[in-house]
Amino acid sequence: MVEDLGFASTMMDIPLQVRRLLDHGARVHGASRVITATDDGLRERTFAEIGARAAQLAHGLRDLGIGAGDRVGTFQWNNDRHVEAYLAVPSMGSVVHPLNIRLFPEQLIFTANHAADRVVIVDNSLLPGFAKLLPALTSVEHVIVAGDADLSVLDDAGVAVHSYESLLEGRATTYDWPDVDERSAAAMCYTSGTTGDPKGVVYSHRSIYLHALAEALPDVFDLSYRDLLLGVVPQFHVLAWGLPYTAFATGCSMAMPDRFLAPEPLARFIAAARPNKAAGVPTVWAGLLQHLAAAPDADVSSLTEVVVGGSALPEAMMKAFDARGITALHAWGMTEMSPLGTLARPPAGAAEADHDRYRLTQGRFVPSVEARLIGPDGDELPWDDESVGELEVRGPWIADAYYGADDPDKFHDGWLRTGDVGVISPDGYLRLTDRSKDVIKSGGEWISSVELEGHLIAHPDVVEASVVGVPDDRWGERPLAAVVLREGAQITFDDLRAFLADKVARWQLPERWTLVAEIPKTSVGKFDKKRIRRSYREDELDVTTLGSDRDR
Ligand code: AMP
Repeated sequence: MVEDLGFASTMMDIPLQVRRLLDHGARVHGASRVITATDDGLRERTFAEIGARAAQLAHGLRDLGIGAGDRVGTFQWNNDRHVEAYLAVPSMGSVVHPLNIRLFPEQLIFTANHAADRVVIVDNSLLPGFAKLLPALTSVEHVIVAGDADLSVLDDAGVAVHSYESLLEGRATTYDWPDVDERSAAAMCYTSGTTGDPKGVVYSHRSIYLHALAEALPDVFDLSYRDLLLGVVPQFHVLAWGLPYTAFATGCSMAMPDRFLAPEPLARFIAAARPNKAAGVPTVWAGLLQHLAAAPDADVSSLTEVVVGGSALPEAMMKAFDARGITALHAWGMTEMSPLGTLARPPAGAAEADHDRYRLTQGRFVPSVEARLIGPDGDELPWDDESVGELEVRGPWIADAYYGADDPDKFHDGWLRTGDVGVISPDGYLRLTDRSKDVIKSGGEWISSVELEGHLIAHPDVVEASVVGVPDDRWGERPLAAVVLREGAQITFDDLRAFLADKVARWQLPERWTLVAEIPKTSVGKFDKKRIRRSYREDELDVTTLGSDRDR
């Protein structure tokens, strides 16, 4: 309960709205740019142009009958037009809903119907896939196709079909944006969880605005008009970590790779656009680093800092970036948190020799994010870098509920239960040891799957590694290590186990091993441990058992 002191401030009460970020970026940083990768090179648009086109898009949408609170879906890659939708739709009082193009069709259909999207803006390159989904999208009345395309594929779809550029053409380049309540909905994203239906998180104007300002801070992403940020994190995943909004707040230019995300075209895009900073999940960087190792001429020399989040940053990856003069910065967050929670820069005064230790934590809490650790018996634990508990958070850009779905277990007493397990140091550095559902509970003790994966990936012959808990008669659960080896590698599981032997306690060493061609990934590029566990259960994996119980 907030207390009224009976003595008011003399400050203006200006609502924090996306339209203010749009106006600020387009005017004050009008020369900043969004550079998009295309088939034949780069397309550049200034923030001033994007601001004008956002106004045109808003006029177009309004003429289609889209109004306050209506959901506008997007089915797009990271590109300038997608940024226009990010800005225009909330500014006109509607709600932008980036659809996760990588979800399984049933989940995609679920999210569009659950959000009741009335319009969907679709990239031409994604039109064939979208056309197949369309008959199942019950609320969609209009489809707007961005880029050149044969619109006749949607002739019998029973919706009105528009070309994005025709919708904008000739319209006014300013818009009388409404003065919406800062607490009203501006955008929504669905979690990409691997269990159950995806859950909707609805961001407010206020949460987006505050998140954008905090993200730009020097000890966070450190973004300003002097930067050009490569946005690899998809716009359909937690609003691209809010970065397009931070760009308009600060004037930071953006390099958007569109669909050119495979390592080789991505490296070419970096060489051509020359971003100095970047943001993305480890799987993208793993692919890029592997490509760079085999392509000495690829030029990524413009990059100085890469923010890595979404899954743990393995030490080997940090070192591989270091070797190229690029600082990998570890960040943690979640869809329910807009997503920013922590970012790992070493504290002032830390000895150089300690920097890596800090950088390998998930980082320090960003201002406005409050955290607490809850132990197995429900008690709050101290920040002593040792007590392991489940992390709970609260703050102005953290969800208090899912859209249309009760989850009292996740949200309780004004806190969000993150499902992440770890420790916090006295000076506020979070170190996650696992997801609560991935931690391996063996003989009454916990084994961190993340720690084992981090060590395995450091082996020069290991390309990918994922460790999951599997049922064990004697110990409850034991680790199963699934590894992808470098082509031509001559290494055995015994060698890998010996490699781990001086890094973790003996009883934590996996005895079950399996070689796989690829670790299955979720729609946002994280290891899909549920699928590995299922394959194990269904006897689809060729498992070798070493050492067995005698070592425990
Ligand atoms: P999502 O909502 O898809 O972004 O997933 C959020 C979850 O990803 C978090 O609850 C963590 O389990 C995981 N995650 C995100 N960032 C990190 C990180 N830096 N290290 C480890 N896990 C992370």
